[in-house]
Amino acid sequence: MDIEKPTSVFNNIIDRSKGLFDDIKRNYVPRKLLQTDTCCYCGKKIIGPYFIDLYGQKICSSHPRHLCISCCSFCNEKAIMIAEGKYLCSSCQSYHTTLKDAKHIIKMIREHYRQTGLGEIDRFHLEMLSVEEMKQLSQPIISGDVLGLAMYNGSRYDIRVIRNLSHTAMAGILAHEILHIWQYQRKLNAPQRICEGFCDLGSYEIYSQIKTKHAEVKIDLLQQDPSPIYGDGYRIVKRYFDKAGWQGVIKKMEGYVSL
Ligand SMILES: [Zn+2]
Ligand SMILES: [Zn+2]
Ligand SMILES: [Zn+2]
Repeated sequence: MDIEKPTSVFNNIIDRSKGLFDDIKRNYVPRKLLQTDTCCYCGKKIIGPYFIDLYGQKICSSHPRHLCISCCSFCNEKAIMIAEGKYLCSSCQSYHTTLKDAKHIIKMIREHYRQTGLGEIDRFHLEMLSVEEMKQLSQPIISGDVLGLAMYNGSRYDIRVIRNLSHTAMAGILAHEILHIWQYQRKLNAPQRICEGFCDLGSYEIYSQIKTKHAEVKIDLLQQDPSPIYGDGYRIVKRYFDKAGWQGVIKKMEGYVSL
């Protein structure tokens, strides 16, 4: 058995695009860094204090510590700044998601959601924005970093995502936003915590199908999210999911229908 190769039914869908499969394999490589004491920024052996990221990468305490907006790993000097104070690491740069990739990922997520019993989710439009454009659009509503948004204006459903994400990160964001569309289309009106927690459960579901180190880290981040809306919401919905599964969660969500 090839340990570098994740095994999952989901990969049969994702693998049709070679780029996406490379992304999955690539994400298994950083594990090797756990065995070394080499700094991921300067490449030298670490002497003295250092920091360690969620992937086990270490960095001398004297270097700037920028986290990649897409995978949350430490950035080295090959990272680029994509907006004020926002960085993209070199590996996420080489695996950034094109519009075509994103549409493929959507297809795959919809297929998976159909299998979990969520039914059809379609009739929405996808648009990719720069970090700056997203900031302008979301700032009146949300402060902080926004990577994706779902909107319904009474006649049209839209999903907007930033265009700099790697495939795994993009799959997680799209999985979240698509479940907002699911709620809009079924006229559900859950409390905000439950609404966002349910969408994050979708990210969890997709990350756990992808089975990469990158996806594992994203699941840990969902579980540890300190936000009283997203983090608490996710933990509430996830606890219920662990007992009742998708069927139970869907039934619960459908109870929030607005008359
Ligand atoms: Zn160093
Ligand atoms: Zn990255
Ligand atoms: Zn949301």
